[in-house]
Amino acid sequence: CGIFAYLNYNITRERRYILEVLFNGLRRLEYRGYDSAGISIDADLLPEASSKFRPPPLVFRQEGKIEKLVTNVYQEVHAVDLDLAQNFLIHAGIAHTRWATHGLPSEKNSHPQSSGSGHEFLVVHNGIITNYVVLKETLLRHGYQFESDTDTEVIPKLAKFVYDRLSENTTFNGEETQEVTFRQVVMEVMRQLEGAYALIFKSSHFPNELVACKCGSPLLLGVKDAEEPETKMDQFINRDVLHDRRQGRSKEYFLASDASAVVEHTKTVMVIEDHEVVHIKDGNVSIFKFDTAKARKTGGLPRPAS
Ligand code: GLU
Repeated sequence: CGIFAYLNYNITRERRYILEVLFNGLRRLEYRGYDSAGISIDADLLPEASSKFRPPPLVFRQEGKIEKLVTNVYQEVHAVDLDLAQNFLIHAGIAHTRWATHGLPSEKNSHPQSSGSGHEFLVVHNGIITNYVVLKETLLRHGYQFESDTDTEVIPKLAKFVYDRLSENTTFNGEETQEVTFRQVVMEVMRQLEGAYALIFKSSHFPNELVACKCGSPLLLGVKDAEEPETKMDQFINRDVLHDRRQGRSKEYFLASDASAVVEHTKTVMVIEDHEVVHIKDGNVSIFKFDTAKARKTGGLPRPAS
């Protein structure tokens, strides 16, 4: 399948523009899978980070071709009176075109898959989670309810499970935790996953951030710096260049399964490697290496108290 994400930072984009970038990303990836498609965008400007109130992200998804999704999204946007000309100075959107492996093509099996009502965590996934049955059974025992037949659904549910636990505890792995970070949640989730995956996460707890990771399925990152002259460089960049980029400048970020969905926006493209975690936040990208072998020794999902 194909996964895609677009985040604009400190650069004003209309909702219509954001939707078109997501749809175009999917169109470029459609050859990778075409039985269902879906996107998630924000309903409104997000409140201050300090605010407890988070309007849930909007999710549009369905069986069928991308152009059917496009038509239906515009219809729904009109039906609920969402302003296509609404401006977002910062916004994180994710998208998916599916090639079903677990669960027939249908709306409920389309991605983004969700942690449940309120869409605290949303995930688009390319690949197969081989240990999903065990994870699902454990989550069921913890009271989680599942809506789809996909292997993917355990991922957003796990993210909520981890987030809730981390938020409750002031210490984790013997260390004081200050504040739960989006990256921390995703790394804890990765620790539980077996199989092949490229994942992009969006969360109402971490508005305007994206986290992506991969193991076995392809993932690329594109960065377009609005204040940098268009580079002639027509090759993949060195990751030091990326880390050097100054914080706070206007940027656009793209994550995709395939370079074809990124190169129309920027030539600054980086191939993400297995076990890397990409965290896009506050106009900065951080890439972390996740040591799965080491992490697994201490891993294992806690059993519910009986
Ligand atoms: N295994 C996931 C599913 O069936 C993802 C398939 C894909 O890569 O499109 O939903």
